[in-house]
Amino acid sequence: MKRLFSIALLCCGWVVSGASAAPESPQTVSNMPQHDVVQSVPPATNRVARNIILMIGDGMGSEHMWAAWLCNHGKLNIERLPVIGLVRTPSASDTITDSAAAATAIACGYKTRNGQLGITADGKPLDSILVQLASTGRQTGLVVTKAITDATPAAFYAHCKSRYHFSAIAAALAESGCRVIIGGGSGIVSRAWQEQLRAAGTLLRLEGHEHCLPASRRGSFLPDAVGEALRTLESHPQGFFLLVEGSQIDVAAHANDLAELVHETLDFDRAVGVVMEWMQAHPDTLLIVTADHQTGGLSILGGSKENGEVTAAFSTGKHSGVAVPLYAAGAGAAAFGGVQENTELMPKMLRATQTK
Ligand SMILES: [Zn+2]
Repeated sequence: MKRLFSIALLCCGWVVSGASAAPESPQTVSNMPQHDVVQSVPPATNRVARNIILMIGDGMGSEHMWAAWLCNHGKLNIERLPVIGLVRTPSASDTITDSAAAATAIACGYKTRNGQLGITADGKPLDSILVQLASTGRQTGLVVTKAITDATPAAFYAHCKSRYHFSAIAAALAESGCRVIIGGGSGIVSRAWQEQLRAAGTLLRLEGHEHCLPASRRGSFLPDAVGEALRTLESHPQGFFLLVEGSQIDVAAHANDLAELVHETLDFDRAVGVVMEWMQAHPDTLLIVTADHQTGGLSILGGSKENGEVTAAFSTGKHSGVAVPLYAAGAGAAAFGGVQENTELMPKMLRATQTK
């Protein structure tokens, strides 16, 4: 019977290969810290965006969000944003992207090879959205929970053949002109570069030798840092560009650690809530919440929003190739609906800041 089935598949032109592996064992998580969603949901408008806030959940697929949604008793801030899109993630070299190529596509609007930062596939340097908006007089900020020199933030300020050239990346950070830099990496960015940034007026706060603690032990570091960044940047008359990364969603998914993954995703959602509340008084702001790729190949197999419980299984310890969700609100948000390539986000952000 099995043999007949194989033949039938071949006749239809299908090719099926690989062993039929047993699914990874499911994990069940409950009793996660709860949070209420914010009351104010920013609408999508046709205004010109003075400020852009780009929030990237590293490795955050929709399954990660829905796992967190179940654990938070059926509510998340992110899911309430009015515009929904999907973003394709392959890089110039691979169907499965890494964070360096994905961040380069989002930041600079070009596909590059896995491992490369802020350069085209054949090595030409690119100006990121951060650099282009700084050139219009806007202030810029970076808030992350892994090292500030890690691939995602680095694609916004560095040009590098390898995401692992940390001293070159830290040197580029020192020259970035960012007004706010908060994250991990106090042992990676040298004292001299830290002093250079502070002397230039940067609000610089680096925790942890390399990365910040995981969300289960980090307290409210990320939501607090986002609030601090907004208070610092909001008075600038020309507006600002702020990148916020929920950096360790990816780490928990690589480790196939469902509990930590939910902690990280809920923490990221609280940071989104801080922005949503702030936007009430700042409607000339575009908010985009998305991911660079999906990590872990998570599947939700059960759970209950009444009990705040999820059962899920990972299918890989690596990244997967699915399109990732995008949510948007505020000035120019409607342009981000539908299915799009990750390279389309940068030109769309730029257009949102331009008078029609
Ligand atoms: Zn990863």
